[in-house]
Amino acid sequence: MKKILICGGAGYIGSHMSHWLHDQGHRVTVLDNLSTGHRGAVRWGDFIHADLLDPASLDRALAGGHFDAVMHFCARSLVGESVTQPYAYYLNNVAGTLNLLEAMRRHDVGRIVFSSTAAVFGNPVADLIDEEHPKAPINPYGASKLMAERILADAAHAYGLRSVTLRYFNAAGALPDQGIGEAHLCETHLIPNVLKAALGDGPALKVFGDDYPTPDGTCVRDYVHVQDLAQAHALALDFMEASAGAHAFNLGNGQGFSVREVIATAAEVSGKPVPFEVAPRRDGDPASLVASSAKARAQLGWVPRWTELGPIIESAWRWHRDQPDWSRQGA
Ligand code: UDP
Repeated sequence: MKKILICGGAGYIGSHMSHWLHDQGHRVTVLDNLSTGHRGAVRWGDFIHADLLDPASLDRALAGGHFDAVMHFCARSLVGESVTQPYAYYLNNVAGTLNLLEAMRRHDVGRIVFSSTAAVFGNPVADLIDEEHPKAPINPYGASKLMAERILADAAHAYGLRSVTLRYFNAAGALPDQGIGEAHLCETHLIPNVLKAALGDGPALKVFGDDYPTPDGTCVRDYVHVQDLAQAHALALDFMEASAGAHAFNLGNGQGFSVREVIATAAEVSGKPVPFEVAPRRDGDPASLVASSAKARAQLGWVPRWTELGPIIESAWRWHRDQPDWSRQGA
């Protein structure tokens, strides 16, 4: 049994993480400022209201907690928003991470699993993106995450901090039977927007660009179920028992699907048409992002269970159709 502090545990991936760890018998404490997360999603473990930009609140949270490790999900994570509000991204994702790491050092917590992103790679120069792929982010979101990765590498050298960085490709799906799923008040992600359009909940979906150099002209992404991401984080805790230093792994299914394919699959699993219109490209979007997760499989022992797009979207569909009231409100 480990004591884990989940920063950002009221959010989409963090809430699934809390469920996973609690289910495995670990003791969970969620830290969140509820800026985008939901109090109703904190269902497993204690809750601390604190903010990464307020070092005093972090000190209070870590003092006496005796945490074995921190999982860090607190971030601004929208590509388009990062292009128009870069300061907010560098402040939250870089300065906020620094504050957290400094508080961990003060309170002697020596292990962290850090949420990173495929956006650190920028425009891919290979069909499958592995960890050695050049890192050349094309938006402030990816740049802010890459800076934090660099800080972790420096912290390993200077302070002996053990870290695992997990670079998610496109997190998707939900655990509707556990009452958790993706619930952003201002939704920008593809799958939730497709499902909202299928439910007739909002305007027709906008497909951002159909003139990309991809088979059908729309962007291609690698969708990985949020529960498989949680599994990888738990494996990362075990990995750090034996491995000093800073390590990074890419997490995806290794298969890309276009926006049009996502729309067609959603229509199939929901049994409803998805009205959409083609709109101009969105700033900061690479044409295609597909992971090689060979390293995570080999070194973490990660075996994703949700390997087909249909069941991933179906789990999200059931959540969106039946979601609780709290998910539609502010924290
Ligand atoms: N997308 C879209 N319409 C939407 C939301 C997203 O066409 O309402 C496209 C977006 O341009 C990108 C893909 O869907 O090519 C995945 O976008 P998302 O925001 O879900 O994830 P990202 O890849 O930006 O992390």
